[in-house]
Amino acid sequence: MVRSTDVEPLTYQIAHAVLQRAGQRALIITGLVDEVRFPCGEIDGPIGSIALARALVALGWDVTIIVDAEAHTPVRAVLDLADLPAVTLIAGDFPDLDTARKFGAGFDVVFAVEKLGRNAKGVRHLVWGTPSPAGDPYSDEYVLAAMEAGALTIGIGDNGNEIGFGKLPRSAAQITPRGVECGCPCGAGIFSVTPCDHLLPASVSNLGCYTLAAALALLSGRAELAVSGEEIQAWTECGLDAGLRSGGVDEVDFRGDDGIPVRYVAAHAELIAGVVHQGLLGDAWIATPEH
Ligand SMILES: [Zn+2]
Repeated sequence: MVRSTDVEPLTYQIAHAVLQRAGQRALIITGLVDEVRFPCGEIDGPIGSIALARALVALGWDVTIIVDAEAHTPVRAVLDLADLPAVTLIAGDFPDLDTARKFGAGFDVVFAVEKLGRNAKGVRHLVWGTPSPAGDPYSDEYVLAAMEAGALTIGIGDNGNEIGFGKLPRSAAQITPRGVECGCPCGAGIFSVTPCDHLLPASVSNLGCYTLAAALALLSGRAELAVSGEEIQAWTECGLDAGLRSGGVDEVDFRGDDGIPVRYVAAHAELIAGVVHQGLLGDAWIATPEH
């Protein structure tokens, strides 16, 4: 697939929209808890969210991360390692829909990162079609209420079953396995109908976040907003040690992210940070014909 040169890259569009946005309060919705596969949460989602949070804090945003309580210990451990005491970590434990929607409408920019979204029948699914009723019942509502209130909303996902994919036409559901036919009694496929203003489909949601942080770095001229491979290696190891698990593999002790070993995840982050470094060297770096 080749991108038209008339259209800016998605990460550029999103970073530009964020940097143009007036406001103070940013919300990041993430985390997948499943009693069997992810009792303390999944690694994909939280690590990328923390990379985004770090960039947003540096840009002056007050950042709240909302994640299921079962995942708070590992997410807190990574936040501490990343030295982000300013980030507020909360659980979605609102008593009713109205309270939850008021909460979502209180933010100026909202990110949903690898967060399961409802399909046309209101059912959330794991990637192979298993219904996933566990966790915060209102995560879609934060995004919907924020959109209605005029906030900037961004979805980052990697299989179509996450919040934000309602941005795409329904015909896109057939691209992903189980997109049209989930195999569960609902029969409506895993494809989420919850929309957003900007969708960033990524091979792994965390990798999409590292690239978005890099785009924020490039556009703001601040290389330090990108995350290095070393940081991502340390954060991922920390999260795994504290109980987050990799998706994409059956091995519960797998050391990686969505089936990719940690060293290659770190290599990806380092490569993207390298793009930022080279991109910000400026014209003075380019050799002139006399040299
Ligand atoms: Zn279903």
